[in-house]
Amino acid sequence: DVTLQNVRKEFDGVVAVKNIDLQIPDGAFVTVVGPSGCGKSTTLRLIAGLEQATDGTIQMGNQDVTGVEPKDRDVAMVFQNYALYPHMTARRNITFGMKSAGDFSDEEIDRQVEEATAVLDIDDLLDRKPGELSGGERQRVALGRALVRDPEVFLMDEPLSNLDAKLRIKMRAELAKLHSEFGTTTIYVTHDQTEALTLGDRVVVMNDGRIQQVDSPQRLYDYPETRFVAEFIGDPA
Ligand code: ATP
Ligand code: MG
Repeated sequence: DVTLQNVRKEFDGVVAVKNIDLQIPDGAFVTVVGPSGCGKSTTLRLIAGLEQATDGTIQMGNQDVTGVEPKDRDVAMVFQNYALYPHMTARRNITFGMKSAGDFSDEEIDRQVEEATAVLDIDDLLDRKPGELSGGERQRVALGRALVRDPEVFLMDEPLSNLDAKLRIKMRAELAKLHSEFGTTTIYVTHDQTEALTLGDRVVVMNDGRIQQVDSPQRLYDYPETRFVAEFIGDPA
């Protein structure tokens, strides 16, 4: 499990995350949803180790990772703008992290790339550079890069928000399929209610740095615990 206990994050005066407790079971697909500025990305970055908590502890499995460097946490993060290296081919973008980490043999790298690119249907694009790919193709390359790391936990921050509506829906389905195949614990941040409710088997609703409710999509609809949840869930963007 990924467990956050009493986690708080303050940026000189701004409290972005206010003492949250959250437990994410192994293999879950958890979506985190809430309005702009409510602390979603900060929460994800805290789990990734890209931010250090002002207070509280974060555990992964039985390891306390509070204060542990991002590279020593078994996570892979996919961002909204997918940050591919423009001068590298798709293949190199995918393998770059693996190679610099130095944990894999060449054979293992090839095997993992083959497996990931087949799932994502990007086998034919591997020799192209990001500038020669569409937005959706770039997004899939970014997902491929996360997949080959085979992490304990995927952290995704609005990974589809740059895509057009049609492609977004297609990629959602692909993400759901990937999760059903690999079963990797996934924490997925979005400000889009529909996306959160479609993808998550458990949804974390945040507002103003606090967790309002954690529940299945159905229960959020049927039994919202706060007025905020009722209005936010009931009012798709
Ligand atoms: P969005 O949906 O717009 O991406 P979010 O829910 O991801 O919003 P965060 O990025 O977590 O929100 O930001 C939460 C709060 O913390 C905001 O008030 C933001 O301005 C503040 N914040 C985030 N990062 C920093 C930083 N590095 N320095 C100062 N304040 C920050
Ligand atoms: Mg954000």
